[in-house]
Amino acid sequence: MEVHNVELVMSAVDPKQYPTTGQPEIALVGRSNVGKSSLTNVLINRNSYARTSSQPGKTQTLNFYHVEDALYFVDVPGYGYAKAAKSERAKWGQMIETYLTSRDTLRGVISLVDGRHAPTADDQQMYTWLSYYEIPTLVVATKMDKIAGAKWNKQLSLVRKTLSMGHDGDLLAFSAQTKAGKDEVWQWIEQHAFG
Ligand code: GDP
Repeated sequence: MEVHNVELVMSAVDPKQYPTTGQPEIALVGRSNVGKSSLTNVLINRNSYARTSSQPGKTQTLNFYHVEDALYFVDVPGYGYAKAAKSERAKWGQMIETYLTSRDTLRGVISLVDGRHAPTADDQQMYTWLSYYEIPTLVVATKMDKIAGAKWNKQLSLVRKTLSMGHDGDLLAFSAQTKAGKDEVWQWIEQHAFG
């Protein structure tokens, strides 16, 4: 999809604030600094629309971006930030869990992992959790421009294996710098949002 029009419609702290248009939603999850804002900005053809986080883990809201008046990207606050207080983390988990498990209009989740390393325990937990709830998930390995092209397959295999994805799990390599993977990620989104 060529995106011309994006609007941040809501930073929601409460389900009552979620959009009511009934249009499909694609959520993006990942640890702070994994490259979520950068991926979002590439997908929507903006340089700095989605904020790149200067304070990891500070965002405590679900941010709904209305894209082309047709679907929403839902920016889910980064998980795995050790600094947040325990009570904050619990509150965070509850909001996200409720959203991801009970939102009728949610069509899929893009789960970002840092392509330079093996997925972390947090990443594994998230993928296992999404699989358990049978939420259609695309794993995107980010920052792949930092990996030599000859090593991409090996690195993707490591991601697949560490997350116990099996052969059928959807996995794509991405770079916000070169925009590699952009079209494939959009294809997955359109297929799941409108397919
Ligand atoms: P977020 O916290 O998940 O939203 O992560 P950001 O999008 O703010 O990115 C965190 C840092 O990683 C920033 O310094 C980005 O410039 C950098 N970054 C994100 N994506 C890429 C990428 O594809 N390649 C490279 N080389 N750096 C990236």
